[in-house]
Amino acid sequence: MGAASQEVRPFQKGNMALTKYKCLNCNKEFEAGDWLCASGEAHTVESKRYYVLDAPMDRRDCKNARLQMLNVIPEGKITRGNDTHVVPGTNIEFVRGVYETDNPHIQMALDKRHKVFHGEEGKKMWEAVYFSNEEKRELEAMELRGKVQRLENERNTLLDQVKNSKQKVAVLT
Ligand SMILES: [Zn+2]
Repeated sequence: MGAASQEVRPFQKGNMALTKYKCLNCNKEFEAGDWLCASGEAHTVESKRYYVLDAPMDRRDCKNARLQMLNVIPEGKITRGNDTHVVPGTNIEFVRGVYETDNPHIQMALDKRHKVFHGEEGKKMWEAVYFSNEEKRELEAMELRGKVQRLENERNTLLDQVKNSKQKVAVLT
């Protein structure tokens, strides 16, 4: 056994959810706590975006907004035979209120964290604090334009189908 038998144990054991993950690197299915590929590198999962609602009062400062979160993964220990190494805690930084990671261990830590949001709902909340009214209007206009475009495409597809079926009818008669 080599690096694969390494075990990272946090000093404090939380109640670990038995979520199954699948690694995009080594294709292995794993549970919380088993964070490493056989190669010793961290398992990789589908990237996930997280949001914090820390927008500065002055919107002009938004683009410079940085939020550090220390010890998202707390300091831990690796035991290899009789040797014990301390693994330093993991620090992350939200830029403009957004942080994205494909590391399942960090994802699990952030999923449990208060005031850290994700998914469509999180994105909406983040947009609400981060975007100025003008930007929000622009965004709505963009969504609207997208909808109109989709409808137009659908209509064209339907028109083509109608045309094609008419041609077929013409050939048959
Ligand atoms: Zn893996």
